[in-house]
Amino acid sequence: MLAGPRKRNTGMTTNIKFEGQCKCGDNTWTCSATPEMAAICHCRDCQYSSGGTNQAEFLVPLSSVKMTGKPSSYVATSDAGNQVTRQFCGNCGSPLYSFADNHADKLVIKMGSMNNPNEIVPQFHMFTESATSWDVIVSGLRFPGNPTPA
Ligand SMILES: [Zn+2]
Ligand SMILES: [Zn+2]
Repeated sequence: MLAGPRKRNTGMTTNIKFEGQCKCGDNTWTCSATPEMAAICHCRDCQYSSGGTNQAEFLVPLSSVKMTGKPSSYVATSDAGNQVTRQFCGNCGSPLYSFADNHADKLVIKMGSMNNPNEIVPQFHMFTESATSWDVIVSGLRFPGNPTPA
C-alpha cells in the first residue's frame, strides 16, 4: 500500500480522534478514544525497542483502535513479571504498539507513529530510574518505576 494523504470525512470515520502509521505505511491505525494515560517511558525495554533513550506512548481501550497491516511482534517478560508484546513494522522497523497479558483489553500506542504527534501531550515520565543522566526531563512529574501497579 502506498503511503499518502488519507481520506477524511467519509461519513463512517467522524469519531476518529487520532491516526497514525509506520514510516513505510504498511501498518496504519486509527483511535476513537481519549487516552487514559500518556507518558514518556524510560525503561530499558523502551530504550531497546525505540533505539532512543525513552519512548512517548499513550494507553487506550483496545476496542477503540482499528489497525491495518500485519506488524511483527516480540514478546518479553517485564520487570513486573508480565508478558509484554511489542509490535513494530517488519518492513521499516517503526515501533507501533505494545500490550501486556494482564491488561489484554488495553493497547499502548507509540506516539512517534502518530500522523501528528503534537495532538497528545504526555502527563509524566515513568521508569526514570533507568533514564540516562543527560536526558532532559522537562516535566516535574517523575516516577522512578511504574506509577500504576501492574
Ligand atoms: Zn513500515
Ligand atoms: Zn517502557
